[in-house]
Amino acid sequence: MGDYRELWKNLNMDLEKHDQLCAVLPDMYGSVYLTQENRPEGMNYFNFVVSEVHGLRPAELNEHKQKGGKVLGTFCVFVPDEVIFAANAIPVGLCAGSQFWVEDGEKHLPRNMCPLIKAAVGAKVSGTCPYFQSVDMIVGETTCDGKKKAWEILDEYVPVHVMDLPQMKRTKDYNMWMEEIKLFIEKVEELTGNKVTVENLKKGIEIANSKRRALKRLYDFRKMTPSPISGKDALLISQIAFYDDPARFVQKVNELCDELEERAKSLKSEGKKRIMITGTPMALPNWKLHDIIENLPAEVVVEETCTGTRYFENEVSTEGETIEDLIKNLADRYLNINCACFTPNTGRIDDIKRYVEEYKVDGVIYSNLSFCHSYSIEYRNVEKALKEAGIPIMNIETDYSTEDAGQIKTRVEAFLEMI
Ligand code: SF4
Ligand code: SF4
Repeated sequence: MGDYRELWKNLNMDLEKHDQLCAVLPDMYGSVYLTQENRPEGMNYFNFVVSEVHGLRPAELNEHKQKGGKVLGTFCVFVPDEVIFAANAIPVGLCAGSQFWVEDGEKHLPRNMCPLIKAAVGAKVSGTCPYFQSVDMIVGETTCDGKKKAWEILDEYVPVHVMDLPQMKRTKDYNMWMEEIKLFIEKVEELTGNKVTVENLKKGIEIANSKRRALKRLYDFRKMTPSPISGKDALLISQIAFYDDPARFVQKVNELCDELEERAKSLKSEGKKRIMITGTPMALPNWKLHDIIENLPAEVVVEETCTGTRYFENEVSTEGETIEDLIKNLADRYLNINCACFTPNTGRIDDIKRYVEEYKVDGVIYSNLSFCHSYSIEYRNVEKALKEAGIPIMNIETDYSTEDAGQIKTRVEAFLEMI
């Protein structure tokens, strides 16, 4: 990594502690990613992004801020990035996936909480994440109780705007979500000093759609047998989508896809079992489950998660002449996301079944972050529906620590033998 100490100092980071974090990532990345044989050349860009994860992009954010631009941190795929782009601001996904931050999070939160929330709070309070240090505002949402209450803690460190996400999908909920998007537009206009217009909102929609299209193209290759890209690599790309420069990201994903098109012609199936992961998000650098599965070996061919299909499926329409038209288009697309914080959430089961067909899945692994109640409770209905349809499924509840890796490996091994 280049020398970014000056930047980190200006961001008020705890440099000593940050050094400890930076010391673990290269080894971890090396053992999970660089040990893969015959990787596509196009993955070199994503290797580079990870090697520069706390330097290059934060430096770009800093440059944007120097010119008067704003940076907004988000935690959920329901927050419409389109509005942020429209106001010439930059969205960054702040979901935290490292065990390193959990301890600091536990100083402010109960221990029996989802590691994603603990790590997010830990990343901020420890001053060891340049993205958290760069944001001018955090955009929260009322999805699960844990996040809802964590905003009150984060608000002591950085301004937080909370979007009140409905938890049902009736007409009144659509109307409420449109109102929330309107309020969000006002908030973003106030922060940036830039007006959101029909023209720039359409441009914002185009930017977000171009990312979705590139990811969809990538995921379509995973429908092939064998997939020309590993599940681990695809997951990494999805994680990087949350903070990389959109235009560069789209270009690099498309270059990789061009390569995959050629590569697919000469690959022969080794008969590996094809696995779907469904469940809670896997924020960078949470590669634990994919790593265990693909080392067995089997291949993860799709993730029905927010670091997977829920992030890129369905584009926002640019049809319409008024801001209201576009807000309706946004609400239509976003309320089509099937997260377990909704009740009922039968659409998720339909999605899972559809992906089983499309990606020719042999078995589904339900991945649940410890103490995520919504997803944990929803397992029952998903299991029932999949069993009725004759689709093998297993449940894994885990956090970011590596202590249970051996046990998970044994259970997945048994599952693979059974399917
Ligand atoms: S799982 Fe639900 S709450 Fe979490 S990021 Fe996805 S949509 Fe948002
Ligand atoms: S994984 Fe579950 S508990 Fe954790 S932030 Fe997402 S919805 Fe909340």
